[in-house]
Amino acid sequence: MGLAEMTALGLPVPPGFIMTTDVCSVYYDEGRNLPTEVEFVLREEIEWLERETGRSLGKADNPLLVSVRSGSPTSMPGMLDTVLNLGMNESVASGLADTPAGSAFAWDAYCRFIQMFGEVVLALDPEPFQRARKSWGVAAPEVAIAMRQVFEEQAGQDFPEDPWRQLIAAAGAVLDSWQSRRAALYRSIHGVPDRPGTAVTVQMMVFGNAGPDSATGVAFTRDPITGVKEPYGEYIPNAQGDEIVSGVQTPLPIRSSGAGNSLQETMPEVFGQLLSAFETLEGHKGAMQDIEFTVERGKLWLLQTRSGATSTEASLRIAADMVAEGLLDRHQAVRRLDPGLLGRLLHPSVRADLPREILTRGLPASPGAAAGRVALTSAEAEELAAQGEPVVLVLPETHPRDVHGVHAASAVLTARGGATSHAALVARGAGRPCVVGAGDVDVDLEAGCFRVVGISVQRGSYITVDGSSGEVSLGNLELERPQLGGSFATVLGWADDIRQLRVRANTTSPNDVDAARTMGAEAIGLFRTEFSFLEREALSIMRQILFADDAEQRRNAVSALLPLQRRTYADLFMRARGLPVTIRLLDLPLSEFLPKSAAEMSAAAKSARIRTRDAKAKAAALSDTNSTLGHRGCRLAISQPDLYAVQVRAILAEAEVAGVKPQILVPMIASAREFEVVRDAVAGTAAKLAEETGSPPHYSLGAMIELPRAVMQAGRIAETAEFFSFGTNNLTQTVFGVGRDDAAAFLERYRNAGLFAGDPYETLDTDGVGALLRLAVERGKAVRKDLEIGVCGEHGGDPDSIRFLNDIGLDYISCSPYRIPAARLAAAQAAMELG
Ligand code: PEP
Ligand code: MG
Repeated sequence: MGLAEMTALGLPVPPGFIMTTDVCSVYYDEGRNLPTEVEFVLREEIEWLERETGRSLGKADNPLLVSVRSGSPTSMPGMLDTVLNLGMNESVASGLADTPAGSAFAWDAYCRFIQMFGEVVLALDPEPFQRARKSWGVAAPEVAIAMRQVFEEQAGQDFPEDPWRQLIAAAGAVLDSWQSRRAALYRSIHGVPDRPGTAVTVQMMVFGNAGPDSATGVAFTRDPITGVKEPYGEYIPNAQGDEIVSGVQTPLPIRSSGAGNSLQETMPEVFGQLLSAFETLEGHKGAMQDIEFTVERGKLWLLQTRSGATSTEASLRIAADMVAEGLLDRHQAVRRLDPGLLGRLLHPSVRADLPREILTRGLPASPGAAAGRVALTSAEAEELAAQGEPVVLVLPETHPRDVHGVHAASAVLTARGGATSHAALVARGAGRPCVVGAGDVDVDLEAGCFRVVGISVQRGSYITVDGSSGEVSLGNLELERPQLGGSFATVLGWADDIRQLRVRANTTSPNDVDAARTMGAEAIGLFRTEFSFLEREALSIMRQILFADDAEQRRNAVSALLPLQRRTYADLFMRARGLPVTIRLLDLPLSEFLPKSAAEMSAAAKSARIRTRDAKAKAAALSDTNSTLGHRGCRLAISQPDLYAVQVRAILAEAEVAGVKPQILVPMIASAREFEVVRDAVAGTAAKLAEETGSPPHYSLGAMIELPRAVMQAGRIAETAEFFSFGTNNLTQTVFGVGRDDAAAFLERYRNAGLFAGDPYETLDTDGVGALLRLAVERGKAVRKDLEIGVCGEHGGDPDSIRFLNDIGLDYISCSPYRIPAARLAAAQAAMELG
């Protein structure tokens, strides 16, 4: 916070002045020179400061000493330079030595200044200075002479004793530090703009090292780890600020812990003043503050305050408490939380203080951490898990058929694939930590291990996967369980009152529904049915269907599927307990059902009672070159109508039993005509059921809009479709022409070259994919005013995308269960932003 602001609040701030960022621009425009006009203004300001403090720069009795600091509009901790104790020279030191401050203090301040000036302004090596001080011991005139000698040897020039020269050089150094390599790197990493540069603050020095009644410290107005409202912080008696920041000395607590050495016990009056400053600052800022302070001979000075960084748990608690205390209203509390951090709260994490041996890094695809024994196939994972072992499934890439392995595992690691690959989706849905696209992982099934640049990890050995950071470590690291306090529910409840978007859950198995409810899903926005067809028994029946030689054989196999399908939806409706459910019809390339190995092929041929040779021929006819654009989605309704019919029958029959009206979603729609064919087929199945049971089933039928052509035809499709669900994963794929499992290979380069701001599978590309969504909303709603429209692609759980999805007037977003809390919060923030 600005000095002026703190001063206006009546807080004890050392007087000073600021040269604004304009000076920085001028300085660089002039080829790193302070023009004479600026020097003139600087002189006037110093004169003002001298009047204000009653002290004079360079005067031996009652000298003014100043700090020269940077002041960037965006905080860049530790990146820019500072010069302290400016104004010290030999005569000032001797003068000060004769005052109550004492000789040790005076010469120490001078020595510190010589070194700091050398390091910051002339980039001199600190080592020889430190050696000189050590060999001389307690600061005295001789030490200062030695220090000056070190300066002169290294710099090849006299030490500037003239405070005015010191000031001009220090201001230049602070301005120079704006373009230092580390500052420029920090800006590029954190997206801080290059302009307008830094301001320069010149402030009267106060000394925490002026004797036993002086101190320096850092304080937080609340505990930054738990959020509890009690003063938290550390101080060092008789020390200067940089000592606490650099951690060279072990500090003491500010609050009493009974040891008798806290600030509360040793300087109770100062402690009381600090507490009242806490109240003032929090009242003004409405946020927990992180404060730097100094006590000079019993007087408290505040040097800096900023809104403090806290753990996610603490930020929730502080938000809830501040509303209760009347410091914030609910809107303000919800606005200030970072939805991106919320996800981490729901999962175990690796204990931060533990040393770890990082093996590799990939894309963090499903948050949380887990440790387990390495399994290299899904079957192995199931076997190990059946023995009660925690398992990490390590694969080159995953296929939908690995779903069993993913469910059996505690965590998943893949060498290829992006964050929206099916491995990631399934893992996220099941709450399993997952790291994908760890390109240096090389799985060697034959050798029974995987390798990462020379290190080989055997199957069965322990690794730990952190799906929040993307790190994979060797060994069985200890994890911490999250503690969800009452403030989590309180604050999210406020978000629910504010948001307009409804928030639903994407699920891949009925088991996911429980987590969806706990996370606050209002409905199941997408039940992916693919996995119910891949369960062991169902898969074998699917192969019989696809390989059947005659109509009767096929009919029998299709009928055998019905009870399995019914069981899935019975389980789903039971767990949903009345929550609305959207069920997507089978959307898996047929090729995914085909046997992969020779053994599987002959087993499948045997159970379909055909020759292996014929099975192979049938498999060849059903295989796709590019399965994501192949024989899948509603295309099956046309090519395999009995398959969709049995699924629809199972859904409608179980919905009837449960007394719910399901929303049935048709994937991969490209044209209105296609949708009409499916509508008629579904109506036919419903009519048959009605005949059998005597009561017509209730359902609504919607189109998944995930192909550009469907967007263009949205008006025509809305004539028949009762709702739209945007499959933004597929739409991103088809708009960019980039496969979602293949993007990782070159995405990083695109990002580095500034061609992509981020991963378009993670954060919606608003200009391209988003523009199409807007168009489909317009066209769809123009035809059907009450058309319900939502998103079920993974973007529905991404806070940055949610803002856009809110703004184009969607009704709901649907995402993986564990992303729901963040989505609820982000939806509330989006609603407030839109006003
Ligand atoms: C989508 O494409 O956005 C979608 C939700 O479907 P999938 O199951 O293919 O991710
Ligand atoms: Mg899709």
